Amino acid sequence: MKSDKNTENSNVFYTVAMRGLVAFPKMVMHFDAARDKSVAAIERALKENARIFLVAQHEAYVDNPKASDLYKVGVVAEIRQVLKLPDNVMKVLVEGVYKANLLRLIDDGKCLKAEVKRTPTYSRAKVDAVESEALMRSVKDVFERYASFFPKMPKELFSSVMTEEDPIKLFENIVYNCNLNYRDKQTLLEETHIINMLSILFACLTSEVEILELENLINEQTQNSIDKGQKEFYLREQLRVIQEQLGEDEAEENFAIISKIMDLKIDEKSREKLLKEADKLGKLPPSSQEAFVIKNYLDTILDLPWGKYTKAKLSLDKAAAVLEKDHYGLKKVKERILEFLAVHILNPEIKGQIICLAGPPGVGKTSVAKSIAHAMGRKYARVSLGGVRDEADIRGHRKTYVGAMPGRVITAIQQAGSANPLILFDEIDKLCSDIKGDPSSAMLEVLDSEQNNAFRDHFIEVPFDLSKAVFITTANNVSAIPGPLLDRMEVIELPSYTAEEKFHIAKEHLIPKQLKEHGLKTSQLKIDDGAVNEVIQYYTREAGVRTLERCMASLCRKAAKKIAGGEAKRVTIKQKDVHNYLGIRKYLADLSSKSDQVGVVNGLAWTSVGGVLMPLEVLTLKGSGKIEVTGSLGDVMKESSKIAVSYVRSVAEKYGIDPEFNTKTDLHIHAPEGAVPKDGPSAGVTMTTALVSALSGIPVRSDVAMTGEITLHGKVLPIGGLREKTMAAYKAGIKTVIIPVDNKSDLEEVDDAVKENIQFIFAENLEQVLENALCKDKEGDK
Ligand code: ADP
Repeated sequence: MKSDKNTENSNVFYTVAMRGLVAFPKMVMHFDAARDKSVAAIERALKENARIFLVAQHEAYVDNPKASDLYKVGVVAEIRQVLKLPDNVMKVLVEGVYKANLLRLIDDGKCLKAEVKRTPTYSRAKVDAVESEALMRSVKDVFERYASFFPKMPKELFSSVMTEEDPIKLFENIVYNCNLNYRDKQTLLEETHIINMLSILFACLTSEVEILELENLINEQTQNSIDKGQKEFYLREQLRVIQEQLGEDEAEENFAIISKIMDLKIDEKSREKLLKEADKLGKLPPSSQEAFVIKNYLDTILDLPWGKYTKAKLSLDKAAAVLEKDHYGLKKVKERILEFLAVHILNPEIKGQIICLAGPPGVGKTSVAKSIAHAMGRKYARVSLGGVRDEADIRGHRKTYVGAMPGRVITAIQQAGSANPLILFDEIDKLCSDIKGDPSSAMLEVLDSEQNNAFRDHFIEVPFDLSKAVFITTANNVSAIPGPLLDRMEVIELPSYTAEEKFHIAKEHLIPKQLKEHGLKTSQLKIDDGAVNEVIQYYTREAGVRTLERCMASLCRKAAKKIAGGEAKRVTIKQKDVHNYLGIRKYLADLSSKSDQVGVVNGLAWTSVGGVLMPLEVLTLKGSGKIEVTGSLGDVMKESSKIAVSYVRSVAEKYGIDPEFNTKTDLHIHAPEGAVPKDGPSAGVTMTTALVSALSGIPVRSDVAMTGEITLHGKVLPIGGLREKTMAAYKAGIKTVIIPVDNKSDLEEVDDAVKENIQFIFAENLEQVLENALCKDKEGDK
């Protein structure tokens, strides 16, 4: 390369194509080089201690410029300093040396070089002193106006411009220090006669000042609310300004965005913020990361249903009909929902009514919520909260965060497409909180009618009015809902279904639905009653009907295959055929103790899938009084076992037990594995009965089941989940259930079928429990 610093006649230089920047001789400036070819050119020039040639591109967006993309005049410059930034970006400080014409561009694939010819910066033509003086005055005048828009402009710059008497120095002072459009600067670079240069500069500054004045005017006007005429004025001017800065296409796109912002039903403060963002977008190169972020942001905002409301059309009769049509049974639930809707009819503006549908999985919570939305004529959206542990899940990430999105609430609104939808917050009891912030406090804000008219999502930044939306939540376990959230909700319990209810739900809802989904006609597939009962009894064990629905879907699928394959025209599934379709029975009838045994008691537990019958076993072994507890009750069981042992010691003699048993006998207590019960202590009576039986050798009646917490003095305390527990007992064919006397009032909730078939014994103390549970003598005679 001949471009040695010392041989000024050399004329090939490493070259950097500049986007939106123009250098001048004697001007010191810095720029960032990011493109590989630019970085390579600078690196090679540095290595060879050579100057570089800086020339502007016509269009900033061209990535790989050819000769035709570059202006014909540039500047040969000295590299003063280079700073390497991450991602192979270089910050380069240069000082222009002389002006040069581009003769030939050489692209070797790695970097650009240019053959150039030096040209004088200023022509030697004579300057008319009067003309020059007049021009200088004009330029200074307009510069003064220009400076008034930049309060931060250095005072020295201002005063040196105003006092300058040399036309060239005046020109350089202004051009090198002011932020003029690069096309204007290029025109100035290409000119050599100082009088012409000053005239062009005067024109540029004048137009710049006009734009600035206009922008100011527009900003003032937007602050006072904008009426339609002003809006058009604003838009047209904005368009003109943008068009001057960008190409036509981008300007039009930006114009469309601004016009949409003007049409949004949104408060003026938010509109102003959005306009500012659009403005910023218009000024950024479209391929930049920041432009991408802002564009994505504005697109998301414009996609939200601001002020879009569906007309509520609510009549109680219709709502009742919808609920009745979609769901079998659930009498109480439907009544409570109709009450809720009645309030909405009388006072559509009512706020802060939030229903929580609580119950085990598959009992119809989601589907009831959908029916409510349908009955209220609202769009429906579901937000799953299970396992949400980060506040940002609810409230979104700031838009500058990589891959940022709005939170789940705003996303639901977007999906619903209306600002007054019914939003279902599923599994609100499964919200977790940890170091990443507490999502439940964000949920509080969503649900709180005092605050949610201006809900703030971190991503969308401007407030969104959620106050017209209806919220419904669901939970499996109400006790796991954070207290402050629970306080705001009205809990409606959906209980587990009896086998009869499941049968009706299957016949009237699940089977017709599955037939339709699988494209089958009722004439093509018949699942008879025996088969339905077989599935309920031996293929599912659940409080709700989810597995049942899946089994029905599986039957339909297999039948559809037969029919489509031409194997059969129509299929009938009877009880005896079920195993051909679904495989062998998955569950045995029940786990209950079938004969009166020593040390085995039917306990009743309440788990997240409903009630279960849980036989509890106690074995006595010769030893030194150790107690071993195994099975699914864990720590709570250990506590209860200590109370039980103490109580048994206090009544040992009455049942013929050696009062010293606690030093001579080891006890092993076992509860079979299964779902973990929600109320551990309720196994107290069961454990005591099993202990007394094991130690005394008196068998326990196998047709009796029990539940209840105990105190040291043998009192029986009330328990939860009576409905589910008694249902489990009923299903297992138990005849007598012992429950705490204080639970008597809860019998009202117990299913009628259960009440008809089971005799209840209300125990106040353990003596009454043992009286009814133990056989009268050691042979098992009752
Ligand atoms: P959850 O939300 O409580 O887990 P889903 O609403 O998802 O339960 O219910 C599971 C399936 O059972 C759905 O297809 C639903 O329509 C159906 N289902 C539940 N309960 C009933 C009912 N009482 N009548 C008709 N279908 C029901």
